Amino acid sequence: MRSVSVFGATGSVGESTFDLLMREGGAAQYRTVALTGGRNVARLAEMARALRAEVAVTAFDDCLPALRAALAGSGVAVAAGEAAITEAADRPADWVMSAIVGAAGLVPGFRALRHGGKLALANKESLVTAGELLIAEAARNEATILPVDSEHSAIFQALVGEDLAAVERIILTASGGALRDWPQERLAGATVTEALAHPNWSMGARITIDSASMFNKALEVIETREFFGVSPDQIEVIIHPESIIHSMVGFRDGAVMAHLGAPDMRHPIGYALNWPKRQALPVARLDLAALGALTFRAPDLQRFPALRLAREVMATRGLSGAAFNAAKEVALDHFIAGGLGFMQMAEVVEAVLTQLAGEIALSKPAASLEDVLAADHLARIRAAEAVKGIKG
Ligand code: NAD
Ligand code: MG
Repeated sequence: MRSVSVFGATGSVGESTFDLLMREGGAAQYRTVALTGGRNVARLAEMARALRAEVAVTAFDDCLPALRAALAGSGVAVAAGEAAITEAADRPADWVMSAIVGAAGLVPGFRALRHGGKLALANKESLVTAGELLIAEAARNEATILPVDSEHSAIFQALVGEDLAAVERIILTASGGALRDWPQERLAGATVTEALAHPNWSMGARITIDSASMFNKALEVIETREFFGVSPDQIEVIIHPESIIHSMVGFRDGAVMAHLGAPDMRHPIGYALNWPKRQALPVARLDLAALGALTFRAPDLQRFPALRLAREVMATRGLSGAAFNAAKEVALDHFIAGGLGFMQMAEVVEAVLTQLAGEIALSKPAASLEDVLAADHLARIRAAEAVKGIKG
């Protein structure tokens, strides 16, 4: 029986993962080692009972009594806190879903690689902050990282049977997010509610706002560079409002392979769950005649400075990805809480990158996770200062 763990089980990707595990037979088909979540302990407990998990972990200590009560008599062990999540990752499982949001997902995914096995990686922040370390750790332990981000799953699938040396370019598609048709002068005043109205995908709140600011695509460009090892100038971004083509690979003979499908995360999650096989999945089938047309346009770097900053990060590499992501997380917190404008998020990130370039060796490769976490920590402090400066 295959053993599985899901980190971030109660989130958007976690729910889709749970749905697939249950459809494929649940506890009769899978031995569930660990499920983790945050404050939604009722849902975490429900999932843990359904899959008969060995342990359920909440990220927050104050949620432990509620989780313990919800799982009383179930035989599921309970734990809480960051260290408990890391311990859960130390329990071997054949297939591990990394779907915690933000830099908090880095350590559990990294630790899970120690067991060999397969790491289904939704947490793009892991590759952005510590790509080189993660790839090396996977190789050292003969573990396989399977991309779950829809674009990277598409690219991964387009590359099956292909020689990486024949790849000329990778074309990442972007829906453009909720504000893609807004004129530049309106963007500064965009509210959280407006940024949350994603046209195609249903996702967690943070990644939905990152889609509107294109910080999500910026992270994905860096993720592409780190995961596939292509050079930055081989990576292109194109706005494709319908979100039907999930990404494309161009080869040296001029051929372009595109991956199409309905925008449903259960496709890339299911592909990673069944890899290297393809199994039937409960996703809507495309009706191309009904769609009629697929459209494309170049992204506007004035309106989306995040894409320009991603280029800077790829040129610097080293610890700059960790700094970029941490500064973005802090800026996003302040946009959500109120007080920081939509376009000011990029200002904060740019200020932090500039400041840290003069403060630490930003381009020096991380020797260990500790280096990454230190850069993340410092960037958060500088970002909070930058926010204060901007708010005045
Ligand atoms: P989400 O906000 O819906 O869920 C996040 C999960 O992480 C929840 O289970 C939450 O409890 C948990 N969590 C939050 N903070 C935590 C912390 N500090 N420590 C431990 N656990 C914590 O997020 P999501 O939309 O499912 O995204 C998860 C990851 O997958 C992100 O890295 C995102 O970029 C990536 N991703 C998501 C989608 C999508 O469709 N939602 C698509 C591609 C990639
Ligand atoms: Mg994506």
